[in-house]
Amino acid sequence: METNVTDKVVVITGGSRGIGRATALAAAERGFRVVVGYASNKTAADEVVAGIGASNGKAIAVKCDVAEESDIINLFQQADTFGTLAALVNNGGIVGQSGVRVDEMSAERIQRVMAVNVTGSILCAREAVKRMSTRHGGKGGVIVNLSSVAAKLGAPNTYVDYAASKGAIDSFTIGLGYEVAAEGIRVAAIRPGLIDTEIHASGGEPDRHHRLAHMVPMKRVGTADEIANAIVWLMSDDASYVTSAILDVSGGR
Ligand code: NAP
Repeated sequence: METNVTDKVVVITGGSRGIGRATALAAAERGFRVVVGYASNKTAADEVVAGIGASNGKAIAVKCDVAEESDIINLFQQADTFGTLAALVNNGGIVGQSGVRVDEMSAERIQRVMAVNVTGSILCAREAVKRMSTRHGGKGGVIVNLSSVAAKLGAPNTYVDYAASKGAIDSFTIGLGYEVAAEGIRVAAIRPGLIDTEIHASGGEPDRHHRLAHMVPMKRVGTADEIANAIVWLMSDDASYVTSAILDVSGGR
């Protein structure tokens, strides 16, 4: 793969593991300088940075819990010192405990899911638009949001709050895309299906994706690389007429 590092920077929230990690490596291969955001796992983030460096790419790790506005401000200030912001991947996301019905959910759980998945993504987009929009003197760019097929399926008896947070991401993608379409910024979302990452373990059900694989029309789970490939395509000029669009990458699920 061609390695041609320019000053184009991509900020990836939750770039330390799973889909974010795969996207960081794929973006670096395509010449982006990568800002690897992480919530708490510095070791994993440092490994991603080292892996990119070993392939002659450029990356830095920055701690950023997207539920903290001050962390987000700092993340983008660090990105400013690294080059010209050209892309944001709003990837960092969480699920609550799997198998909890709405009539059993605590306010704290729901607020945390919304703070990370929704408010965090909108605030990161705010910082990106301030830098990329031609309205503000920027050179344009791309924002890719991580939604989920849960936005369509609703995730009943699993995590309806999470599904609702991803429904919000779909609406946000459409609206922001229209808002900044004439300012050089494209906005799109990916709806992954069942992907082989640690998010299922964080919901208390490490094997969930394998258990449900038979319900996927392709009869298998997806890989983080399969999502990353779609994300870096959306970031590329090959997707130059794609905005306010939502792409299912789900094996048909
Ligand atoms: P994962 O393996 O659990 O990794 C989560 C990543 O997000 C980690 O880098 C983690 O950082 C980071 N993160 C967690 N809480 C955060 C916070 N408060 N602020 C910033 N970053 C935070 O998850 P994944 O499966 O790769 O999921 C990535 C995205 O894809 C999420 O938005 C998820 O909803 C979406 N998605 C995943 C699937 C799937 O089946 N895997 C399906 C549909 C959608 P640390 O390493 O520091 O903990």
